[in-house]
Amino acid sequence: MTFSIPTEVSYVTEQLEKDGFEAFVVGGCVRDLLLNKTPKDWDITTNAKPDEIIALFPKTFYENTFGTVGVVNEETTDPTLTVIEVTPYRIEGEYSDNRHPDTVIFSQKIEDDLKRRDFTMNSLAYSTSKKEIIDLFGGQNDIENKIIRTVGDSVSRFKEDGLRILRAVRFSAELGFEIEANTEKAIFENAELLKNISMERVRDEFTKIIMSDRPMDGLLAIKKLGLLPYIVPELEKTVGVEQNRAHSYHVWEHLLRSLQGAADKKYPLDLRLAALFHDISKPESRRWGKEQDTWTFYGHEVLGARTTKKILTNLKYPTKIIEKVTNMVRWHMFFSDTEQITLSAVRRMIVNVGRENIWDLMNLRICDRIGTGRPKEDPYRLRKYHAMIEEALRDPISVGMLKIDGKKIMEVTEITPGPKIGYILHALLEEVLEDPKKNTAEYLENKAKILVNLPIKELEALGEKGKMSKEEADEEEIKKIRSSHHVK
Ligand code: ATP
Ligand code: MG
Repeated sequence: MTFSIPTEVSYVTEQLEKDGFEAFVVGGCVRDLLLNKTPKDWDITTNAKPDEIIALFPKTFYENTFGTVGVVNEETTDPTLTVIEVTPYRIEGEYSDNRHPDTVIFSQKIEDDLKRRDFTMNSLAYSTSKKEIIDLFGGQNDIENKIIRTVGDSVSRFKEDGLRILRAVRFSAELGFEIEANTEKAIFENAELLKNISMERVRDEFTKIIMSDRPMDGLLAIKKLGLLPYIVPELEKTVGVEQNRAHSYHVWEHLLRSLQGAADKKYPLDLRLAALFHDISKPESRRWGKEQDTWTFYGHEVLGARTTKKILTNLKYPTKIIEKVTNMVRWHMFFSDTEQITLSAVRRMIVNVGRENIWDLMNLRICDRIGTGRPKEDPYRLRKYHAMIEEALRDPISVGMLKIDGKKIMEVTEITPGPKIGYILHALLEEVLEDPKKNTAEYLENKAKILVNLPIKELEALGEKGKMSKEEADEEEIKKIRSSHHVK
């Protein structure tokens, strides 16, 4: 088996071998090579001890209790190659807290190191000099069959480290693999082991599931395996909650489909989380509307924003993400309610949600719509929204655009406050609209000095002309925006 290994990596293994040690590329990167994916990082395992590794390379660091030495490569710009982690073969001791091995013992046998690894697909080692894979647990076979299976007895492996439960689900979402039946049974029967795992570690795996290409499958697995209560218990209530006629799906499935829609569009984490949580409080807000003869959900976005904040805080997400997602959930109803779409309503919404978030809110609406299973958005209406947002965001044409203001005019012309200043400003605007290059402090100040000497009637007429031109130019810009979106 021959893989193309970056020279920065084979340099490290071969340097170790030259000194009489064994060295292999190991773990996730071998799995990725077999899957034709570019590894996110390169790990090397060796029978050399930390001080023996350090002695072989010009620049290293060693700041942990697991024996991992970082070999630093200053010449490369590839972030996956700047530090290559080299770890001695390890045997892990007891895990009395289900989280950390109590002791780490270095070993001389590669078998020891491979058998402590979580899944068969992650327990492969590759010799860069012999071009051979060491596969003690059938990892290659499992990769070929797209199967996630623990190395050794599943229950005890999960008891050693409960995080492996979530890693299994995460890899299944990232790679599109199935979890093998015994491994799956062990997860289901030991779900409560997640209680022992810090929220930060849970969050990191949860984020990887959300950011994978198949977050819907990931969440379905989380639900099916009984893991939801330990990650986002609030989602459980949405299962099976029926909606109104506009929706083909119950709330839970609607949320998953919205999230999947966001993933299919490669949207970032904040939008994906907003898609997943936007209707989280529909179960609590659901009332039978006699008049409407269907279910109503008034105020679910207000409650939902509060619940989302609680969920994300519990998962220890950074404040910036919490605020952004909560804000989007709070205002997500805006674009769903087509009667609200007037220009002034769009302006008010921009004030509410913030200029920087308005396009994300629009994208959330797209996901929400995908999640309802309704036919594709009427393209005209979508373009109309885009045009309205651009129109509302645009700075109107005004004397505020000028590189001079009333105060400066008074200063250079030595006149006192009065209508003359307004006339001069508008006369100057007229000139700048004709020729934008004239919008410099120097030109306008000189021009103001000339204009001030005109008879007041003449100046007033010039000012009026400026006002008219301003309105025309404004209309012209709006027309341009609309026609660029092909709407009237
Ligand atoms: P990726 O980097 O793509 O997220 P990975 O498999 O490389 O996936 P890492 O967290 O980088 O995952 O870990 C590297 C290797 O270390 C794994 O492939 C596995 O062999 C081992 N490993 C990591 N975490 C655990 C764990 N909790 N229990 C057992 N082995 C683990
Ligand atoms: Mg890795």
